[in-house]
Amino acid sequence: MNRLNRRGFLRTGITGAAGLLAFSPALASKQASQQSKNTTFRTLGKTGLKVPVVSFGVMRADNPNLCKAAYEKGITLFDTANGYQNGNNEIMLGNLLKNYPRKSFILETKVKPAGVDRDGRPTGQTTSDDFLAKFKTSLTRLQMDYVDILYIHDVRNPELLEFKPLTDAIKKLKKDGKTKFIGFSTHANMPSVINAAAESKVWDVVLTAYNFKLDSIPEMDSSLKKANDAGLGLIAMKTIAGGGFLDKEKTKPINSTAAIKWALSNPNIHTAIPGMTAFDHLDMNIKIMEDIKMSDQEKKDILLASMEQSLFCTGCSKCNHSCPKNLPVPDLMRAYMYAYGYSHPAMAYQLLADLGTGSSPCTDCQTCQVNCASNFKVKEKIADISRLVNVPNEFIV
Ligand code: SF4
Ligand code: SF4
Repeated sequence: MNRLNRRGFLRTGITGAAGLLAFSPALASKQASQQSKNTTFRTLGKTGLKVPVVSFGVMRADNPNLCKAAYEKGITLFDTANGYQNGNNEIMLGNLLKNYPRKSFILETKVKPAGVDRDGRPTGQTTSDDFLAKFKTSLTRLQMDYVDILYIHDVRNPELLEFKPLTDAIKKLKKDGKTKFIGFSTHANMPSVINAAAESKVWDVVLTAYNFKLDSIPEMDSSLKKANDAGLGLIAMKTIAGGGFLDKEKTKPINSTAAIKWALSNPNIHTAIPGMTAFDHLDMNIKIMEDIKMSDQEKKDILLASMEQSLFCTGCSKCNHSCPKNLPVPDLMRAYMYAYGYSHPAMAYQLLADLGTGSSPCTDCQTCQVNCASNFKVKEKIADISRLVNVPNEFIV
């Protein structure tokens, strides 16, 4: 399905969309012992890795038995990061995966370079030593000699992809066999960083936010096509657009199955890493792996949800520098989404602590000058989420 057709799906409605998602990608397919014969596989670009279309975003998972069950049901790719759960996420995966043959799973982790500014540019604190030391810690936690994919965490500016201390360091890690493949994750300004990666010969894989709520789907799809044509592996995250609900009050559920299938309806996406924290999430995702075709009801659900406001900040960067106090508005919106969309106040709490914006950052500001492209009531949301800063640590779970 081409980009225009996908846009047409959201624009023309259910009838006009009928059949548009019934693409027949030329998928690599093999049957592993644990996997259903119906599992859909795609090849992760030039890495040549064949992966089920659904993988495991481990970020919020803290139950190793859930990861074990996923592995046993044929999920092979696990995504974590140096910063998740203060390192406990990598430790949990390391303790589990050491029990399995190393080549039977794909482990990817991310390292966030220090000192990157709000516009995604490196500063004096962005050093190879910092990056390499964090990665070394990750390997120790994971109890592994190497990872399959190492990402620079959170790239929002192509300048960072050309910052030699970082690119030289990650390329050397690949050369030394500490990682099989290298890439970056991105959840803001995605089209421009993906285009830059497609033009460079450095990167193997991109992990990108991708869902039906993005404000620039045609631009995104064009970048993804360009990257796929250049041989990059492309993995989708944030496919459910901010958690299971459109609203804070949890009265408007998102059809998660439909949302993941929507992302996979783009053949340039090779696998998705929905977050799983419960066994019913796993059951749902195994079903998707075996049948990615959207039903008419699923198309309808996505179409209707695409027209509603949600908790998901698209990372469009259109609000950049519009706050006179220079508040990191997209990050604060992300904290809001963690608390109310993911129902994970601990993640919101940690992000707010990292941002250091305090409990009432908009005090003394009479009129909000931020015009959010998603029509968020920015001042209201910032006041709401920032109260979390005053909650004693022991109450944050
Ligand atoms: S109310 Fe709006 S403009 Fe004022 S400080 Fe808060 S985010 Fe910035
Ligand atoms: S807060 Fe609004 S304008 Fe700013 S990046 Fe998010 S969606 Fe875009």
